[in-house]
Amino acid sequence: MIISIASGKGGTGKTTVAVNLALSLKNIQLLDCDVEEPNAHLFIKPRIRKEEKAYISVPEVDETKCNYCGKCREVCAYHAIAVLSESNGKKGSVLIFSHLCHGCGACSLLCPQGAIKEVNKDIGVIEIGEKGDMQFVHGRLNIGEAMSPPLIRQVKEYINPTRTVIIDAPPGTSCPVITVVKGSDFCVLVTEPTPFGLNDLILAVEVLRKIQIPFGVVVNRSDIGDGKVESYCKQENIPVLMKIPFSREIAVSYSEGTPIIKKDVSYQDKFINLYLNICAIKE
Ligand code: SF4
Ligand code: SF4
Repeated sequence: MIISIASGKGGTGKTTVAVNLALSLKNIQLLDCDVEEPNAHLFIKPRIRKEEKAYISVPEVDETKCNYCGKCREVCAYHAIAVLSESNGKKGSVLIFSHLCHGCGACSLLCPQGAIKEVNKDIGVIEIGEKGDMQFVHGRLNIGEAMSPPLIRQVKEYINPTRTVIIDAPPGTSCPVITVVKGSDFCVLVTEPTPFGLNDLILAVEVLRKIQIPFGVVVNRSDIGDGKVESYCKQENIPVLMKIPFSREIAVSYSEGTPIIKKDVSYQDKFINLYLNICAIKE
């Protein structure tokens, strides 16, 4: 089973849930796909045994073959190409904005002159390791690199179907999150009982319903804020799978990079219950 852990809003405790759930179960593979800011490794402290560069294919134009027809600019849905036509005897030009390129390959495929070839652009690194019995993989996007979905897809290529796979997603509801949760059997949405938490939870719920991934909610710091998140879940028939009350001890252990279950072993059973709740919904 593939379980992704997401949250509409950053800072809700998504990584805490991913890490502690992973540490509470057996035969686990943990993927940290929050590639702009991976931090699960700070808690897991895996032994990294392999490192791989991640690339995206971006176009390179051979202007000796190009006639500046503009076809590549037309087909690029991401506005990553500008074509300046020849005029008044002035040579034309093709500009590639590689930071906008999604590597779809349409421009090279459709260039009538065969003037475009694809070249690899380094976008980050994938690190593969383990901690005890747990397999661990994460991606790190290069600083300043805008395109995280290609790296996320490359991290997901390491999914081991013989294991229970837990994926830590980036926060938000945009492309990178959808790239992560697509293909999951279940998504856990971590939120907090505040107006911001509720607002972003509603957005995340809309996305998951659209892409038809079953989901449930974990309410972190459940004893602060108001009861509107729970009322919303009740009204929308969304299962609340677990509640984690605010605790100074948990906050301190987070800041030290110590998983909750190492500080308070009773949490191991609570995370096992979270998993059992997910399994019961999936049955
Ligand atoms: S489609 Fe090919 S020939 Fe046309 S402008 Fe682009 S690179 Fe040049
Ligand atoms: S590969 Fe796709 S996204 Fe990149 S420039 Fe070509 S058409 Fe645009």
